[in-house]
Amino acid sequence: MIDAHTHMDLRPIEDFELMANAGIGVVVTCSFYLGASSSHTLLDHYNQLIDIYVIRAKENGVKLYVAVGIHPYGIPRDYEEVLKTLSDYLEHEDVVAVGEIGVDSGSKLEFEVFKKQLEIARDQNIPAVIHTPLRNRGELFAKCLETIREVETDPQLLVIDHADEDIVDEILVLGSTPGLTIREKQPSTGRITQEKAASLIKCYGPVFTLNSDINNVFPADPLSVAKMVHHLRQSGFSDEEIEILSDRKAREVLKL
Ligand SMILES: [Zn+2]
Repeated sequence: MIDAHTHMDLRPIEDFELMANAGIGVVVTCSFYLGASSSHTLLDHYNQLIDIYVIRAKENGVKLYVAVGIHPYGIPRDYEEVLKTLSDYLEHEDVVAVGEIGVDSGSKLEFEVFKKQLEIARDQNIPAVIHTPLRNRGELFAKCLETIREVETDPQLLVIDHADEDIVDEILVLGSTPGLTIREKQPSTGRITQEKAASLIKCYGPVFTLNSDINNVFPADPLSVAKMVHHLRQSGFSDEEIEILSDRKAREVLKL
């Protein structure tokens, strides 16, 4: 099983062991530094993910892949400095994507940084993991789609996360992969319960990746993906559908 979107550096190291025991052998951790004020903060953060967490994960039986990028929650003043070195990080064997990138409040700066990172992903032919906003979603997501189309990045290399019934159609029309973020405690738009996820899967088929988006900001469960798989099994989904959703789809789109 693959948890295709996490923030493992914000979690206790024991989570790796819990995940491995539950059969989650592969995890993607996305860079996310709330309130990063300087490029140094983000570059140190990337180094930590690549040099420390990949090894910690391995020691606990998990293959950890890293996505590096500038999250809209923490755009440093000198973000251009980060963009200059991003390409070098993307060459690293454990780095599989640009991410987590996207737009949240919808500021001009967020759109600018999002666009520049999509251009880097396009130029390096590397996947991108995209955050979708919680508020003012319809309008902001439409503008995000516009940006993606403008950049002409390969839509097949995009995982668009926190998908919900409001945006799944548009993601599929674009030709990208919607990622379902499963959260039983305090679900919200884009952070959905197992039942809601199962109903989306029933409607669209096994076109999604699954993730916990575990962090230390919102209530989250390191076993979200494993529990989702159990729920799907109990709900009568086939072994093949479950294998695609919990493993194959993420391998394909993130080229793991
Ligand atoms: Zn996230």
